[in-house]
Amino acid sequence: MLAARFPNRGPDGISVTLIESRLQPPIGVGEGTWPTIRSTLKQIGVSETDFLRECDASFKQGSKFVGWLNGTDAYYHPFTLPIDYIDRNLAPYWLEGPRTANFADSLCFQTRLCDRSLAPKLITTPEYAGVANYAYHLDAGKFAPFLQKHCVEKLGVTHVLDEIVSVDCDADGSILQLRTKSGTPLPGDLFVDCSGFAALLIGKHCNVPFIPCKDTLFIDKALAVQVSYDSEDAPIASITLSTAQSAGWIWDIGLTTRRGVGYVYSSNHTTEEAAANELRSYLGGRDISYRSININSGYRREFWVGNCVAVGLSAGFLEPLEASAIVMAELSAKSIGELLPGFRSGLPQAARIFNEMFQHRWQRIVEFLKLHYVLSRRTEPFWIDNRQAVPDYWRQHSPWHEDFSHREEVFSAASFQYVLYGMGFEPEPLPWLLNEADRIRAREKMAETARHAANLQAGLPTNRDLLGRIRKYGLQKI
Ligand SMILES: Cc1cc2nc3c(=O)[nH]c(=O)nc-3n(C[C@H](O)[C@H](O)[C@H](O)COP(=O)(O)OP(=O)(O)OC[C@H]3O[C@@H](n4cnc5c(N)ncnc54)[C@H](O)[C@@H]3O)c2cc1C
Repeated sequence: MLAARFPNRGPDGISVTLIESRLQPPIGVGEGTWPTIRSTLKQIGVSETDFLRECDASFKQGSKFVGWLNGTDAYYHPFTLPIDYIDRNLAPYWLEGPRTANFADSLCFQTRLCDRSLAPKLITTPEYAGVANYAYHLDAGKFAPFLQKHCVEKLGVTHVLDEIVSVDCDADGSILQLRTKSGTPLPGDLFVDCSGFAALLIGKHCNVPFIPCKDTLFIDKALAVQVSYDSEDAPIASITLSTAQSAGWIWDIGLTTRRGVGYVYSSNHTTEEAAANELRSYLGGRDISYRSININSGYRREFWVGNCVAVGLSAGFLEPLEASAIVMAELSAKSIGELLPGFRSGLPQAARIFNEMFQHRWQRIVEFLKLHYVLSRRTEPFWIDNRQAVPDYWRQHSPWHEDFSHREEVFSAASFQYVLYGMGFEPEPLPWLLNEADRIRAREKMAETARHAANLQAGLPTNRDLLGRIRKYGLQKI
């Protein structure tokens, strides 16, 4: 993103170097994204057709949560905003009743597309445009080399395969250069720590403390597997399926070639053996060979110190729920580009703004992820320990724009509404805050949503159909 934003590589320009270790491959998980990824890929000049083909990617239109309330329930958190969302909050009118359908179905046409594993667009829809809002599921093992090749070949990024072994600093602690195993020093003005959980610069060198979130978010282990489809024409789901289990939840992501499935759980509430059995039984009893990954939920107290800024897992990680990690890496890269000062003297101010913004974002994400768990009525110890009263405020007021006043909140009022009302949360009836004109409008808009959903159901191809056609013919270039 920095290389695309600052394309001048001449003596007065900015050069970007990516350093990777041959010995430590990228983590290789992280297959669900957020709709921001479309503008990110577009901005850096990636063709959507190439990306879909080379990363076995599919369209993601939100998440479906199964069994989170009591084991037999299901609700959607779709990417498309509730109807009329920019102007009016219709949630209180849905709450008032009569509730002929659930919250997401009543106010968002997209759930009906997800029910049938439909695509969010047509073959004639240009690259990155959609009939419904969407992101992707992608093969993480293919996405990293795909981006690396694009950045080197199209954006002039220098790629160095070497092992960073130490850091040289000047008197004020700023990083002067990195020392590598091959002996070549790598000097720079700004160092972006993308070293994953190793957090080589922000953690090991700058000693920025890590704020653990384990007391709030209990997930600390993942068992990840790749499974084949039952048949060549099996539907490719257009949502991340998130199914509650005894001590956590299972993600199920459909790519074009296979599914990526994983159980994230709390090791305080179950053992690896029992978790593997639950995962096996979710997969219909088939033999599995899984990868076990430790998760240390939390984030850095600061992300930008001097001339070092952390992006990705080195900055923090909570858990895979709602795919908040890659979007945070995208937002970080975007903000670094926007805040980058012309001279070193501007770094402290950039760091201050960046840290404030991202501290807010991490705190808000923790709050939103926890919301998924607190209303559960499941009876296993993991869910009982997670249970908490929802803030009183949401009893008297439906989440709305004013509650999320920062620019580019990762999860907006719409996301809070989908989860709260999807989980059956019942606020106080507040008829004196409602009016007849909006009541009539809400009824009309709900009817319009149902009509729109029916039209799209009739006209959109399935995810699998469209992805097959894109493989053959490609999408229209913008
Ligand atoms: C179980 C699990 C599920 C996840 N699911 C999702 C999801 O669905 N959606 C989502 O948005 N995110 C998800 N994530 C997070 C996602 O995987 C990461 O945000 C993403 O992969 C980015 O990782 P990264 O680049 O920060 O780190 P990594 O992929 O670990 O890359 C670190 C890089 O640093 C290099 N490096 C390390 N040490 C050295 C050294 N000494 N010298 C030189 N180079 C070095 C390595 O070579 C590597 O290239 C998930 C994470 C986990 C653990």
